Amino acid sequence: FTQARIEIFKPGDIKTNFNDVAGCDEAKFELKEVIDFLKHPERYRRLGGKMPKGVLLTGFPGCGKTLLAKATAGEAGVPFITLNGSDFMEIFVGVGAARIRDLFEQAKKNIPCIVFIDEIDGLGKKRTAGPGSNDEKDQTLNQFLSKMDGFGDNTGLIVIGATNRPDLLDPAFKRPGRFDRIIMVDKPDIKGRIEILKVHTKNIPIKSEMKENIIKTIAERTPGFSGADLAAVTNEAAMLAARNNKEHISLEELDAAIMRVLAGAEQKSKILSPKEKNMVAHHEAGHAVAGFFLQKESYVHKISIVRTGHGALGFTLSLPIEDKYLNTQDDIKNAVKSLLGGRAAEELLLKEISSGAENDLERATILALRYVKRLGMDKKMGLRSFGVSRENYLGDNFTVDEGYSEETAKQIDQSVNSLLNNCYEETKEAIVEHKEEIKIIVQKLLEKEVLEKEEIKQILTSC
Ligand code: ADP
Ligand code: ZN
Repeated sequence: FTQARIEIFKPGDIKTNFNDVAGCDEAKFELKEVIDFLKHPERYRRLGGKMPKGVLLTGFPGCGKTLLAKATAGEAGVPFITLNGSDFMEIFVGVGAARIRDLFEQAKKNIPCIVFIDEIDGLGKKRTAGPGSNDEKDQTLNQFLSKMDGFGDNTGLIVIGATNRPDLLDPAFKRPGRFDRIIMVDKPDIKGRIEILKVHTKNIPIKSEMKENIIKTIAERTPGFSGADLAAVTNEAAMLAARNNKEHISLEELDAAIMRVLAGAEQKSKILSPKEKNMVAHHEAGHAVAGFFLQKESYVHKISIVRTGHGALGFTLSLPIEDKYLNTQDDIKNAVKSLLGGRAAEELLLKEISSGAENDLERATILALRYVKRLGMDKKMGLRSFGVSRENYLGDNFTVDEGYSEETAKQIDQSVNSLLNNCYEETKEAIVEHKEEIKIIVQKLLEKEVLEKEEIKQILTSC
């Protein structure tokens, strides 16, 4: 009862390696270091470098987190111990903690090894405090963290956790020396889908002269599909072909299989229509242009119109050119403009606005509120700071409003509104000025779904 329900694979039983994982290049790159360490621990010990003890893989289910973890063990040639975080949610006080001790006992016997905890949020949810706290759960988590800390550096135990909800994890989890590497494993773009389909059609009879075209077509028809969905598509198609007594799998079976997988999961059937895709592409291109031309201290790293595990329909990733610890008045205004770029592009170029800007507007408003209420940057409001920042027991900051007059409340409203409106006007000017660049980005996005730094820069500097 107090034993952890774990499964141990000996190195000889692990047939998975990085060749079985298609795409996921960034994740593989990060995990290569772990592999190198497990293979040559003495090198790291000698040089005094500290390997992370914990790596967190986050992202949508079925995108290859388990596969990556197992392939890491396969590449390193070490035992792979797997378990599920939900096994530690027990009603009886002390049972979860006892299982944690058992888990670490087992791991110790297998060092060097990788321990993989799927659904680690089951184990590591934020601790509660005050009335209604959950003693059993907190005890389990405390035991886990103290066991992780108790493990010396570079002993050869690496814990890989997987979760779709990193936001649920207790902040203590992500402290240095615990799970301080966080790797995102998200839904594949069209290139990734082609790679995954290649892996999963290796042993499936598709006429070889047609194979490349068929794979490309299927990849185009499956935006938003995870690796697991694509594996299901190829499997369904093989079964259909067998049932119909066919020798080869053709586009017909694969198409039917897509429909089956779609029907099986309601959420996935939310594939964007061409019109919606066009809107998302314009929206993201608007962010990119506003970011590039108005927010000069940052560069646009990536633009994507692949749906993310968190429900966003696309994203534009801008990163500051160098670390910044202070924000000037202009920095904040420029960040607001870059957030409004998506909406501005929709309004000006498509003459139709969408719900895609909801999160942008929320973030822009928060920035404007800070500008006016906390940073003394709005002329009309003056230097007074409104609202007091407090820290709660989890280390999160929040603001408590202190009393102020109704007139002040009105002025805050006016100042916030005019800041947003003025920024929006400037954003719109930039969008009009760089209409051509947006067109090119949209066209490329519709074609490739993802654009990287170099390509973006080239488009934006050549027009
Ligand atoms: P997760 O742990 O993220 O929920 P899994 O690693 O269990 O997802 O993936 C489930 C299955 O989907 C895998 O066993 C594999 O068949 C397929 N799959 C997912 N991602 C990939 C990928 N990148 N390359 C090849 N197959 C994949
Ligand atoms: Zn947006």
